[in-house]
Amino acid sequence: MLIVKTIAEARRIVWRWKAEERTIGLCPTMGYLHEGHLSLMQASVRDNDITVASIFVNPMQFAPNEDLTKYPRDFERDCKMLEKEGVDMVFAPEPSEMYRDDFCTFVDMTVVSEGLCGRSRPVMFRGVCTVLTKLINIIYPNRMYMGKKDAQQLAVVRRMVRDLNFNLKVVGCPTVRESDGLAKSSRNTYLSPEQRQASRILSRTLRHAQETIAAAGIGQGGGEAGADGAGSAGAGLSSADMIARMEEELRTEPMADIDYVEIVDGLSMQPVQTLHEGDLVAMAVRIGDTRLIDNFIVGDPLIEIGE
Ligand code: AMP
Repeated sequence: MLIVKTIAEARRIVWRWKAEERTIGLCPTMGYLHEGHLSLMQASVRDNDITVASIFVNPMQFAPNEDLTKYPRDFERDCKMLEKEGVDMVFAPEPSEMYRDDFCTFVDMTVVSEGLCGRSRPVMFRGVCTVLTKLINIIYPNRMYMGKKDAQQLAVVRRMVRDLNFNLKVVGCPTVRESDGLAKSSRNTYLSPEQRQASRILSRTLRHAQETIAAAGIGQGGGEAGADGAGSAGAGLSSADMIARMEEELRTEPMADIDYVEIVDGLSMQPVQTLHEGDLVAMAVRIGDTRLIDNFIVGDPLIEIGE
């Protein structure tokens, strides 16, 4: 497995692969890898001749009050895990390699990036879109693999790729969870044992919402993904009611501090009045200082929450 730190070297290697007409999958990460990340690698290794993983804790997507300096890092362990998965190249530049002192060009988005996490983390998607544009221009992937755990990020990147005509396919990969339902995240390492227990409230609340929606006959097929007001049988479950029920359940956990619970169209990320197949039900909740996110798409399989 090649470990590459500079853009020039990455380009040299990538262009050799391109000349050999090999397909390239790119899996962008911030490192401190877990099985969620590895599921992206596995999908890429399956679909492409070459898999490139990037490890870059992108300073541009952190606000000054966020966890940039304490974000967990273990590069050697990450490399061992990636090698086992059959990854061909790790691209791990230093921030100074990606951003010169006088860097002043950004990829900014409206609409899709503005609600949900974009409201409480306004700089994040500008950072994500800018760094991914740079990575795409360095690696020239045929496919890029991203987790559905970060559902808004996936929607933002799909829209950016469409709007700016990037020549690649974005592949969304299912959320990998702990046995009790908690979505795997590098940030879970911040949780104390008590907070880790309390964090189960996210997936439990989502699972109960899934059950309510399924009982109303919504998302059982036949619906139109991302289309409010069309499609599914049983349409008529109000988003406001569903959100209120979910917030009520979240409040039963004293350690949970709700950032948002929202129900939006799965493509545009705009709020919907009533629930339909393809809508995104998403939440961000603080447990202590740790902000956790989780979601499901209406019509997805039920989240397994253990005993
Ligand atoms: P991060 O290192 O947190 O920026 O994540 C890198 C990629 O891994 C993103 O596309 C995430 O959506 C994806 N990812 C993170 N956690 C999970 C998970 N539990 N299941 C699936 N994908 C994930």
